[in-house]
Amino acid sequence: MDCLESRGQRKPEVRPCCPNCGKPGWLDGWRFVKLQAKVTLAGVLAWMAGMWRRRARCPNPDCPVRGWTVYEEQGYSHRTFPPAVAAAAVAELLFRGETALADVAKHWGCSRWTLVRWVEWIGGLVELAVLFKVCWTCDPSGMPPPAYRAQQDADSSGPAWASRMALAGSLILLFEKLARLLRDQGVPLEEGPGLGAFLRHQLDRFCRVSWLTKPSPPLLFDGLWPGG
Ligand SMILES: [Zn+2]
Repeated sequence: MDCLESRGQRKPEVRPCCPNCGKPGWLDGWRFVKLQAKVTLAGVLAWMAGMWRRRARCPNPDCPVRGWTVYEEQGYSHRTFPPAVAAAAVAELLFRGETALADVAKHWGCSRWTLVRWVEWIGGLVELAVLFKVCWTCDPSGMPPPAYRAQQDADSSGPAWASRMALAGSLILLFEKLARLLRDQGVPLEEGPGLGAFLRHQLDRFCRVSWLTKPSPPLLFDGLWPGG
């Protein structure tokens, strides 16, 4: 936990801990990132341009993790728009309706196609029933029993756009709930949208990258909170 907290502060002088074995790593070089977006606490898009990230190396010869990148707040691997921005943009789209696709894309500095792809990507992160059960397990008094079922669409052409939007919206809300529960338990999640904070924690803690353009490893929910 100490390691996670020190990494959560992301001070340059702190030796970051290995995400696999937890041993303090050695800072070892830099990686340059041309451009990455972030969402401010006021929900505004901001750009981080020309930024250097530290690389770190694990001192444990038995650890399979040789090196990793130390990320800043909302920083994320292989994304110009990190998950927090995607979550904020899709949430805005949900409130404004699909006719606002072009407006929302313009607001977040992306294309309409990217926005549509974010809706698809969020819908495929995890089954709705699974995420609901995780939240319910953590806080059974705050939610109804998990008789909730993911929407199944028998049509082989896939669910309609409205259904995909609804699925993405439901997942965004549940990730928000889960992030709040984890923060209440002292798990060090970064600020901002719950979905982005949770995926960033998966990256920091388990080295799991959630890709946008190719299949991603499943999210890990075991051992997220004390006794969980
Ligand atoms: Zn290690």
